[in-house]
Amino acid sequence: MKLFTYCPSCGSGDMHFDGIKELTCKDCSFTYYHNVAAAGGAILEHDGKIILIRRNQEPGKGKLDLPGGFADPDETAEEAIKREIREELNINVETLQYLGSFPNTYEYKGVCYRSCDLIFHAGIEAFPTHFDETEVQELVLLNPSEVPDDEIAFESIRRGLNLFRHLKSQEKYRTK
Ligand SMILES: [Zn+2]
Repeated sequence: MKLFTYCPSCGSGDMHFDGIKELTCKDCSFTYYHNVAAAGGAILEHDGKIILIRRNQEPGKGKLDLPGGFADPDETAEEAIKREIREELNINVETLQYLGSFPNTYEYKGVCYRSCDLIFHAGIEAFPTHFDETEVQELVLLNPSEVPDDEIAFESIRRGLNLFRHLKSQEKYRTK
């Protein structure tokens, strides 16, 4: 939050960040809450394997990620993930099954965004043939057990994939 030097209300340079989410002006007591954003990704399963994207944007450029992103105002998490899948992979997903949520940190242009990432699962019939090259370098199809942890861009995605593997191994979770 070092970029937020001046109070947007009174112009004072005496801004204080509490290290969590509260940015307060010492002069006029204006407070900005840098709240957690809703975001997430989908584990798309195709023929027993899952589709990962290799990111073409910072943060995590060149690393593996799930298709997904941030929810816009007035969107449900499901709508946001479906929109992102449409934009990134040019496919429509009808039904998403919720798996769990994990906190994440996303640094972009000097600002540290904190998110609560909702992880979903969907089975898809056809492998995507087009993707958005500004966002995605390549699509990677892997067995869930073969995804290399150290190549995953974000902690929330790593934890989401671990949960998916765990549910699969326990056979409590069956794909449609
Ligand atoms: Zn102020």
